[in-house]
Formats: sequence, structure tokens, C-alpha cells
Amino acid sequence: MTEVFSNTDELLRAALGADAVYVVTEGDAPGALPTPTIVVAPASAEQVAEAVRVATDAGVGIVPVGGDTAPRRSRNEDFPCVALSLERMSGVVEHAVEDLVFTAQAGLVLTEAQAAIAAHGHRVPLAPPLAARATLGGIVACSAEGPTRNAYGSVRDQVLGIQVVHGDGRISRAGGRVVKNVTGYDLCRLYTGSRGVLGVITELTLRLRPIEPAACRLAWRFPRIEDAWNAGMTLRRDIPALYGLHAARGTATDGISGEGAALVATLRGPEAFVEALGASCWEHDLGAASQEVLQPDAVPAIIGPVSALDAWLRVCVLPADGGRLLTTLAQRIGDDADLVLDVLGGVCDVTHEDPGFLDPVDETALGADLEPLCAQVDRPGDPGFHLRRLHLFPSTRPGGVNVMQALMRSLDPAGVLNPGRYEVAP
Ligand SMILES: Cc1cc2nc3c(=O)[nH]c(=O)nc-3n(C[C@H](O)[C@H](O)[C@H](O)COP(=O)(O)OP(=O)(O)OC[C@H]3O[C@@H](n4cnc5c(N)ncnc54)[C@H](O)[C@@H]3O)c2cc1C
Repeated sequence: MTEVFSNTDELLRAALGADAVYVVTEGDAPGALPTPTIVVAPASAEQVAEAVRVATDAGVGIVPVGGDTAPRRSRNEDFPCVALSLERMSGVVEHAVEDLVFTAQAGLVLTEAQAAIAAHGHRVPLAPPLAARATLGGIVACSAEGPTRNAYGSVRDQVLGIQVVHGDGRISRAGGRVVKNVTGYDLCRLYTGSRGVLGVITELTLRLRPIEPAACRLAWRFPRIEDAWNAGMTLRRDIPALYGLHAARGTATDGISGEGAALVATLRGPEAFVEALGASCWEHDLGAASQEVLQPDAVPAIIGPVSALDAWLRVCVLPADGGRLLTTLAQRIGDDADLVLDVLGGVCDVTHEDPGFLDPVDETALGADLEPLCAQVDRPGDPGFHLRRLHLFPSTRPGGVNVMQALMRSLDPAGVLNPGRYEVAP
């Protein structure tokens, strides 16, 4: 640890108390920081503000850390940073049962939030990977979407109110507890997905939904995944309110009778609603080789966590471009990878038992094929791949990055929050 860095340790202890600061000397440090790393764990928004001010004065960056489940991302390695852990900010502030509204500190882990409100038949409609570790603040900071998006909307649709500590130590609030809660800009949306560069999220007010009383899954077998996707597009067009609809091939379809690729529809809601939706699905002659009803938790690989990041590629396109995406993947990656394509959302997960499965792939040619589809490509197991996508794909073209950087300068003038997290690739 350099002198200035260890001095920060003492300054933080003096400002927040000895129990709020510790040092990780070996093993995995939070936020993928190098060891030794100073971890500051404030107990309130005021203490977060104090920690940010101390770090700014010391010329040290702050990496907010929730459950630390996010794959490793880019960071300015030359900027010494401390980890700011939300581990001591995990309390429930209020569960307004009648209003279906829930307020909690940002360090509360999602499954603990769900357990706290399940007794009243409610749940937060969020379903990120690794929900037993991911925190509410981290999920909102990453806008970590999951399968509930199709039925209930995106992460930002669930955020009614937010408290944030900015890079200059200002504490601000946006939104509130009621559904019509915005005067001026909807800043809750700005902070959702800002990945800790506009402020540390310290408290959140979220919408709740009743836990669906019934659920089931329907499955159809087809010779090829392209056929399953085509059939899925028919259901997508005709049947609203499907909870999930996935075309899959490979080991992801284990547990479904028969051979080949599969289409899986997930239905959730009141019992009569699920029955009626199921009947509408069966009325369609999709030309499948076979069809069956599955238990709701069958085929877990289809709406479930990806287990090995280094053997994983995620490509997002418009739903109608799913067929073109499958053709491109077949040409560039081959036929032996497992595929799960979310027909409603256009998100395709490509996995392989061999982590090196992308090594022989011509990445430039793959990028050129995907660019007309406005595809977003993510490969968290390979930070280099993530950086290259910045100039490969259109949604992060320089104009948008400039606006993000102007916002960052305004809310974090010294650039201490997650330094280097958003920098334009050369
Ligand atoms: C297999 C897998 C797939 C994933 N797929 C996706 C995906 O498709 N899309 C996606 O967006 N994410 C994805 N993620 C990321 C992950 O779902 C989310 O990052 C996770 O929910 C974050 O929760 P966390 O508490 O673990 O945050 P952490 O991992 O601790 O932090 C994640 C990021 O948010 C910042 N952060 C954390 N807490 C706060 C806070 N209170 N205030 C401000 N900033 C904060 C951190 O600095 C960091 O940049 C995936 C993760 C895994 C393991």
C-alpha cells in the first residue's frame, strides 16, 4: 500500500469510526480491486457522503460494492481506489402493504427483500442472476434485467424513489412513493443503469407485485432452433401476457421429451388466467414434432443463471431480428454451442462447455454481421471483448458517450466514483 493510500485508511477511520473501515490483504478484494484494499462500510447516507469527501480530498477513487456479483468491468488502473461496501446498509425502511410499495437501504440483498415481503403475498419484480447475493442498489445501478421484464417492465419501471450520494458529497433524492411522483426530469431513470458513476445509491423505493398464484411451462419440440423461433414469433404476435418465451437448443433443453430444438412458454398469474393462456397456446398448430406441459421449475437453464462467465456470450437484438441472429451465429460460431433465445426480448445467450469456444471465431467478421442488427454484444468473462464493443456497435457512439461524460463531470466533478468505468475506447 502506498503512503497516500494507507493515510486514507486512517482518515476514513477518523471520520467514520474504526468499525466502518477494514483492509483486505489477500484473496479476492471487493470490486475486483487489487490487494491490499481498503474497504469502507458506512452505516448511513451521511456516512457515505463523508467517505466520499475524505476520498476526494485524498485523491483516491471510490468503487461502490453491493453483492459483488457483476462480472469484472473496465477501470482506470492508475487511479488508486477504496471499495465502498453497502454491507452495513441493508435495512428495510418501510413496507407499505396496501400501496404495494417497499423502501429499503441499497445494500439489502434481493432474496432477503423478497423474504421480508413474501409474508404479505408480494414480491419485487426483479430477477437478476445470483439474486441470493445481488443487492437492490447493485441491481438498479446495473439495470440488471431478468425474465420478469416481459411481464412487469424493466428495472427502471420498478424504481419509484431513490436517494443518491454524489461525487462531491451532496445527498439528493428523486421520485417518491406515489406512482405519479415526478416534477421535472425523472432522475430515477437517469441513475438506473448509471453503474455507480453518477452517485452511490443509498436508498430505494420500489413497486411491488402480488406473487402469482399459478405457473406452468409448455414445451414444443422442433428439428431446428430456427423453426422453434418462427413458432415463437407466431405466439408472440397472437398471445399477450406471456411471462417468458424461449427458443433453445442443446443441453438447455434437457428435461423436455424428444430430440432437437425446443420452444418453451412460461405462464404465470391467477389460476384461471394461466389455464386460459395455456388453452390459447395449445389452439395454435405450430407444426411441432411433440408438445407437453412441464412443471414451472423444469428446464432451469432456460430462465436461470448462467454458471460459467468465461464460456458465455450474450447478444441482444430487436425481437424480429432473432432469425437473422440465429443465421449469423450458425455461420460464425457453428452449431455445437448451446443457445437460448428470449423470443419476446431478443436476448440470446450462447454457452459452451469449452471456455475457449470463441477463440477460433473471426470477431471482426462477427461484428460486421451483427452491426446491421444494432446488436449489443457482451462477454463479461473477457473484459477486452467488452471494451471492443464500444466502437463496434452503434448505441454507444461518441455523441452518447459525450453526454454521459458531461453528466459525470457535473455530478462527480473530481471523477472519484468508479474512475475509468466509462471511457471511450480508442
Ligand atoms: C451470469 C451473470 C449475468 C449477468 N447479466 C447481466 C445483464 O445481462 N445485464 C446487466 O446489467 N447485468 C448483468 N449482470 C450483472 C449483475 O446481474 C448485476 O450487476 C447485479 O445484479 C449487481 O448486483 P450486486 O449487488 O452484486 O452489484 P455489484 O456487483 O457489487 O456492483 C455492480 C456495479 O454496480 C455498482 N454499484 C453497486 N452497488 C451500488 C450502489 N449502491 N450505488 C451505486 N453503484 C453501485 C458497482 O460499482 C458496480 O459497477 C450479470 C451478472 C452475472 C453473474
